[in-house]
Amino acid sequence: MIYTITPNPAIDRIVYLEGDLTPEKNNITKEKYVDLGGKPTHVSAILEQLGDTPNKATGFSGELNKAELVSIFEKYRMNHEFINIPDQRTRESIIVINNSGGSYMITERGLMVSDSDKSKLYSYITENIHSEDIAVVGKPAQGFSVEDFRYLIRLLKEQNAYVACDVAGEYLGVALEEEIDFIKPNKHEINDLLPGDEPIHRKFNRICEKVPNAVCSLGSEGALYKVENTFYQAVPPKVEVQSDTGAGDAFVTGYIYGVANGYDISDRVKWGILCSASKVQHYSSCQINKEDFGFIENNLKIHEVI
Ligand code: ATP
Ligand code: MG
Ligand code: MG
Repeated sequence: MIYTITPNPAIDRIVYLEGDLTPEKNNITKEKYVDLGGKPTHVSAILEQLGDTPNKATGFSGELNKAELVSIFEKYRMNHEFINIPDQRTRESIIVINNSGGSYMITERGLMVSDSDKSKLYSYITENIHSEDIAVVGKPAQGFSVEDFRYLIRLLKEQNAYVACDVAGEYLGVALEEEIDFIKPNKHEINDLLPGDEPIHRKFNRICEKVPNAVCSLGSEGALYKVENTFYQAVPPKVEVQSDTGAGDAFVTGYIYGVANGYDISDRVKWGILCSASKVQHYSSCQINKEDFGFIENNLKIHEVI
């Protein structure tokens, strides 16, 4: 079973404007819709679209607006079991998209979890997640310190689960120190963690010393990975991009799908590229279309990086 653990999910309100956002003006909307926010939930939504991959989304959710979050989960047919936080609301993010391109994101800090909420999550993990299971962990909510995050990772490892994280900053540092099974920083996240002028694949190599099967994603330039002592870059073909929000989560989904199916690292990366280069062709942060895969696979280029 693949468990996605989202400590701070979000309800995203995407607003497209007729013009560009201007102060002291009545900014008229062209279109608006509601989408899922909080990275690991995207992984569950995309796994459902891939099919044949048992998975469950868990984490914390606010009791006061639970019905709306659940309605979004159900739109993606997700299997979900979140721990209720009483008297709180799951955060909402407002994403304003200008007619001429470019966007603004306004978000809330989200749930504030107590020691008793954290204990419930830890119990859920010890009761449900075991060896053979895969856990995809997201960035913590308020009240969940970096050391709590370390504890969560250690607990998952004690349960013998395969642990994957897509986190940045100090959380990425902890994921490396704890030598988890998979991380996918993008190149900006690696540059923030390891400043300096070294080429990105040299910095990435320092990441691989801790997590040998890590991947560094490079946006439209694809992804960097290491097999034995050689670095490779897998580059997707040029596609028509509608939105790159959630591209990283789609990559993680494809990779984890490969782990669950026993694929080697090259095929895991290929599935990461298939899912993510499909995702960018759709507006929603967790929408793919398997019909996009043929073109991507036939035009995917892989070269060595020296
Ligand atoms: P996120 O914003 O979701 O956190 P990220 O910055 O972590 O994303 P990226 O490196 O931007 O992740 O993208 C992840 C993957 O998505 C890339 O490896 C690539 O396969 C695909 N991708 C991103 N942008 C494009 C694009 N313009 N065209 C094709 N594929 C893309
Ligand atoms: Mg990016
Ligand atoms: Mg990312």
